[in-house]
Amino acid sequence: MEKLVSLCKRRGFVFQSSEIYGGLGSVWDYGPLGAELKKNVKDRWWNSMVRVRDDIEGLDAAILMHPKVWEASGHVSGFTDPMVDCKTCKARFRADKLLDAPCPQKPSKHPGEHTTCELTEPRMFNLMFKTFMGPVEESAAVVYLRPETAQGIYVNYLNVLQSSRQKLPFGIAQIGKAFRNEITPGNFIFRTREFEQMEMQFFVKPGEEAEWFERWRAIRLAWHHELGLRPEKLQWHQHADTELAHYARAAYDIEYEFPFGWNEIEGVHNRGDFDLTNHQQASGKKLEYFDQAANTRYLPNIVETSAGADRITLAVMVDAFREEQVEGETRTVLGFHPSLAPIKAAVLPLVNKDAMPELATELYNNLRKRFPVFYDDGGAIGRRYRRMDEVGTPFCITIDGQTAAERSVTIRDRDTMAQDRVGLDHVAAFLSERL
Ligand code: ATP
Repeated sequence: MEKLVSLCKRRGFVFQSSEIYGGLGSVWDYGPLGAELKKNVKDRWWNSMVRVRDDIEGLDAAILMHPKVWEASGHVSGFTDPMVDCKTCKARFRADKLLDAPCPQKPSKHPGEHTTCELTEPRMFNLMFKTFMGPVEESAAVVYLRPETAQGIYVNYLNVLQSSRQKLPFGIAQIGKAFRNEITPGNFIFRTREFEQMEMQFFVKPGEEAEWFERWRAIRLAWHHELGLRPEKLQWHQHADTELAHYARAAYDIEYEFPFGWNEIEGVHNRGDFDLTNHQQASGKKLEYFDQAANTRYLPNIVETSAGADRITLAVMVDAFREEQVEGETRTVLGFHPSLAPIKAAVLPLVNKDAMPELATELYNNLRKRFPVFYDDGGAIGRRYRRMDEVGTPFCITIDGQTAAERSVTIRDRDTMAQDRVGLDHVAAFLSERL
């Protein structure tokens, strides 16, 4: 993790928020390459969930919502974590994440002083950020930063259904920011206080939810495989009855094996009719679906797939990171799936003379209309290759002494380091085929 975090900063993937002021606890900014990488993750999700499916519609709901939404959803009363404090070292923990309470802070803070924490009784701590709407800071003006994107989908489901003329079963998908005042954030961008979710809520006829739950589990795991994550690094974790969230009838997490252990990157939940029942009751508005074929009305049941864009971006980077020994040197590679790589190809004139820069610039200007490409004429060619390996660029196109006469270039593959000679006019086709 240390090597990856340092690479992320050095090469512009992820920076600490407000770093010049000492940083803000567990909030991170994405730099030029990180912003592209995360966007590619989100685009793949949006394409597979919205664009290629007839039965899912997209939505972009606001972060701020009527405060009654969060009462009806159960978040005001139930979105809490049990918090305990150590009376000796003053460290704060989530009670449900403590195994046997040996103080994790001990080695650095209290060498040899105590072996176990003396913990207070757990106190429930609400994870929602509060703020005020309008000029007066009073309780009537309290609004929350949404802790999940799902509620924006539930309160809009009839709007989407009617405007898109969908019929059950159908889904609504959205990508957006969520905020949680986590007690113990950490592990880089794994657990942060501001993050992005990619959520899809699938509305089905009551009785069909168990079948759709299984179907969505299979679809979602396959999606992670297609991202290029190694299958042996992915596993299911089924929530036991004691673990289930307040809304869930059944829940499975997709876990990835990070360097700090197996951890959730996506949840698939059978939420039953919990959400629509509560919103119907609290708002006083009928949220029933009229089933024309059966000539009846009912509240749909919901299967949710809830993924974290930041956690998946972290999993993608961890999975891609490797170090190899090549000719006595360490070669660092981010072996991204080409569709995720922030830069698809680098254009490299071998030397800055003999018409090479002109030919390279012409090629670069043509390619950049279609792909994110990078022009680099600085330093020895081997060093330029290494720099591209380190940020995961799948192809390096070198303009050399033969290019002018033969109208051809070499294309070096990041993973095999093999070089192909390709006609200048075929470079774009070569790339699009492989990307
Ligand atoms: P955890 O048990 O790790 O706190 P959770 O069960 O509360 O997670 P969900 O409410 O199911 O998580 O949220 C769905 C997804 O949103 C998670 O799988 C994760 O990818 C992402 N997510 C949740 N909390 C955070 C966070 N604090 N930072 C980054 N991503 C998060």
